Amino acid sequence: MPRKITFENGSLNVPDDPFIPFIEGDGVGPELWRAAGPVLLAAAEKTGRAISFVPAEAGAKAFERTGAYLPPETLVMLESHRVSIKGPLATPVGGGIRSLNVAIRQALDLYACVRPVSFVPGVPSPVKAPEKVDMIVFRENTEDLYAGIEWPSGSPEAESLREFLNARLGTRIAKGAALGVKPMTEAASKRLVRMAVRWALKEGRPSVTLVHKGNIMKYTEGAFRKWGYEVAAEEFGDRTVPEAEAAPAERKVIVKDRIADNMFMQILLRPAEYSVLAMPNLNGDYLSDALAAQTGGLGMAPGANIGDGVAVFEATHGTAPKYEGKDVANPSSLILSGALMLDHLGWRDAGDLVRSALRQAVADGLMTNDLARQIPGAKACGTAAFGKAVLERVRRDG
Ligand code: NAP
Repeated sequence: MPRKITFENGSLNVPDDPFIPFIEGDGVGPELWRAAGPVLLAAAEKTGRAISFVPAEAGAKAFERTGAYLPPETLVMLESHRVSIKGPLATPVGGGIRSLNVAIRQALDLYACVRPVSFVPGVPSPVKAPEKVDMIVFRENTEDLYAGIEWPSGSPEAESLREFLNARLGTRIAKGAALGVKPMTEAASKRLVRMAVRWALKEGRPSVTLVHKGNIMKYTEGAFRKWGYEVAAEEFGDRTVPEAEAAPAERKVIVKDRIADNMFMQILLRPAEYSVLAMPNLNGDYLSDALAAQTGGLGMAPGANIGDGVAVFEATHGTAPKYEGKDVANPSSLILSGALMLDHLGWRDAGDLVRSALRQAVADGLMTNDLARQIPGAKACGTAAFGKAVLERVRRDG
């Protein structure tokens, strides 16, 4: 009888036969899940475990059946089972929902968007040495300009805030300006950097880079940098060292910082010098996709939204509506997000098995249209055929 994952004293207790909820998602979601699900089941089985996937409803299908895009019981299920996986969800047009994904992150306080980026040999890339990219982005998920605190130009709210700021705080904001607020707190910044440093220490990574625009936004992004260095020194001072004090061939995790615009240049020109990146929400949004572009695009990029004791793994792309039902979308993002989920369960052998099977499938010349169309003469395979190829290699090589 399968059992539930529990969370006690700050750590997950994962049975060998856990229930794991999955949301198959909208658009291409169901066909991607049909390709990815069996791969994850097989990798678990090959390494002596058994996953019981439990369907959880969200998105268009949930709306048709229950009248809610994100039924409350789905949130309860994701929270109580601790670890789950989802396909892409379409943002309903109208209806007052900003985004279902954002709603899930907020409801479960999944404060870190985690995106590992590494290159799968054979995948087309616009850069000369994509194999030098091996980074993981920890993006703060709850604050910053993405908190949704903004008012349109000419609205009574924007005007009243503008008048207050000009009269009381000496600003000179022009009439009719649209206004947004960028909240960033010590607590939220520190918990994000804490997670990134812990990850670097656990994985034996050489550095954590704080990416910010503190030169311009001194009290928000500048504070993120300061709080990042503080949490590293105060809580991990025996195992981390600031870059300025690092010895040659330093054995401790080096904590450094880079201004965001420079960081965009660094990932292109000196990617091998960076490993774990921690950053506020907006920087993280841009940088994660820029890194994904260097290693095959969104179809290849895995991701997760992680909080304290609850995590939802997800394909990083959207529902790709134009490809729905056409058997052409790339299931790799969902498959690799599943591999990341297996790592998170403590099943690194199963995660490695999935990654190596996918790499082998690509090395054997199998790839979906998004990749094949970039390689002269390459022939694309469908979503289902690619999933089957990875599955066969998991079964064969495991
Ligand atoms: P999208 O669905 O990610 O698609 C944009 C383009 O990316 C596609 O047209 C396609 O490019 C490529 N693409 C995405 N996934 C692919 C895959 N698996 N295989 C191959 N190519 C893939 O973004 P969108 O069109 O902006 O958004 C559509 C819907 O998805 C919206 O409702 C949005 O709110 C939602 N969304 C959901 C999530 C999520 O659930 N996490 C994230 C983003 C967007 P080409 O046209 O060049 O082939």
